[in-house]
Amino acid sequence: MLNTIKDSVTLSNGVKMPWVGLGVFQVENDLTVIDSVKAAIRNGYRSIDTAAIYENEEGVGQGIKEAMNEVGLSREELFITSKLWNADQGYESTIAAFHESLKRLDLEYLDLYLIHWPVEGKYTETWRALETLYLEGKVKAIGVSNFQIHHLEKLMTTSKIKPMINQVELHPCLSQKSLREFSKSQGIQIQAWAPLMQGQLFEDVVLSSIAKKHGKSVAQVVLRWHLQNEVVIIPKSIKEHRIQENADLFDFTLDQEDMKQINTLNQDKRVGPDPDNFDF
Ligand code: NDP
Repeated sequence: MLNTIKDSVTLSNGVKMPWVGLGVFQVENDLTVIDSVKAAIRNGYRSIDTAAIYENEEGVGQGIKEAMNEVGLSREELFITSKLWNADQGYESTIAAFHESLKRLDLEYLDLYLIHWPVEGKYTETWRALETLYLEGKVKAIGVSNFQIHHLEKLMTTSKIKPMINQVELHPCLSQKSLREFSKSQGIQIQAWAPLMQGQLFEDVVLSSIAKKHGKSVAQVVLRWHLQNEVVIIPKSIKEHRIQENADLFDFTLDQEDMKQINTLNQDKRVGPDPDNFDF
């Protein structure tokens, strides 16, 4: 199941999504994002995660086009995600914002479209728009991001279609155990953002000793921990050697003791905003 960078998880609707993708948050909409996307695809990545608010969808689209030519890939071999920004929530505005994202990416369809944050009073109506886009075939899978258990429960009281994905902040210092268990029971696949805690884990002594034992880097140990927990990952890097390193995860396995030790690092500590208390 998990032997190469191209391996996929099957979502609740049967769509296959790669376990590993490239994140592009805070990556400039110029050669930087074009080159990162090309480096990722050249090194075997097939999934790219962007968002309207990252303001780099044009560059992502350009990188995809150039990489498809360079590597000789068809669109169907790639898995492209974007996200609806908070200001665009609401039924009609969501439909319009989706088409704007498609236009900037210069794509005919998306593989995954997510509600970026659970804006109170709006997200159930927004979800109805995602259901419409899905049923029209403009997006292969739909999901949410930064939803806590209570947001998912509320959404599912009115939804016709369950979210296929919930993308949340998740790393060893915020292991999200109850959310992972709840999501699994509902057939919602969890995807980690900030899987490397935005670079704040590299000095940790527990992780360093496990990395030394396996002859791998701390980043690789953390990413492997996610995969062994059945979590989809989208590490971000603009450096080709790190893009390669973050995909080189399939020649070792963490044993039960390693996994247990990493699980002890949880402090419910966020690097990003709290989904129950954000004001944007
Ligand atoms: P990550 O945990 O992926 O960390 C990225 C940071 O780690 C960068 O500073 C990068 O630097 C560095 N890095 C990457 N690989 C290595 C490595 N092997 N060794 C050392 N340093 C490394 O954080 P992100 O916040 O970017 O999260 C990943 C993706 O998740 C985002 O890019 C975005 O697509 C998504 N996301 C979604 C959110 C949401 O609300 N849904 C919120 C935030 C992110 P460098 O680039 O210089 O290599």
